[in-house]
Amino acid sequence: MTNKSFTLSDRLYNYVCDVSLREPPLLRQLREHTAKRDDANMQIAPEQGQFMALLLQLMQARRVIEVGVYTGYSSLAMALALPRDGRILACDINPETAEIARSFWARAEVFDKIDLRLGPALATLDAEVAAGNAGGYDFAFIDADKTSYADYYERCLALLRPGGLVAVDNTLWSGRVLDTHSDDEDTSAIQAFNNRVAGDERVDICLLPLADGLTLLRKR
Ligand code: SAH
Ligand code: CA
Repeated sequence: MTNKSFTLSDRLYNYVCDVSLREPPLLRQLREHTAKRDDANMQIAPEQGQFMALLLQLMQARRVIEVGVYTGYSSLAMALALPRDGRILACDINPETAEIARSFWARAEVFDKIDLRLGPALATLDAEVAAGNAGGYDFAFIDADKTSYADYYERCLALLRPGGLVAVDNTLWSGRVLDTHSDDEDTSAIQAFNNRVAGDERVDICLLPLADGLTLLRKR
């Protein structure tokens, strides 16, 4: 299980959900639909979706980037929190999972808020910078291939306005970040990313031990 806060006991996790989780019916249905897949642990935790929605509301965000859509849970959670004119630039390479995402976005009536770009996210983000949209975004969520995290971070930082926020998922990597002798390239990439942002003076930082670790980086 990487999609629930692994530092909590099951009982305490259930308590947290009992007293604070307000998962909208369509998000719950999408979670149940995705649970039948054997890669379902890629989906964010429901309390994490609710937290990101709260962040967007606090920031009064209107322009959002998502890197890593999968079956669309995190984008749907964010789209529901955006105002009517809010938009998400959503990047993924998998047309099969994107089709599931699209059908749930349509059912939730947020389809028009989400601009899905199928293709390598780095190319999409570079095109967005080249189109003159640097500084035009409020929030970015990074949750795709871990070996590209550093590249996604640089592009997202360029695309955010000052005061904008990057949220980076899986930064505790089920605790494997502690394994100093790992030969797994995803683990090494996340360790390198964490070490790099630790001293990055361009941002304010908080590594929140929520779900599998969510690092928040506020552009100064
Ligand atoms: N945020 C999603 C989970 C994302 S899982 C949720 O809440 O459900 C990671 C996703 O990254 C997968 O869907 C995968 O297809 C995508 N991905 C992997 N490499 C990518 C790349 N180079 N460009 C864009 N997306 C990529
Ligand atoms: Ca993730």
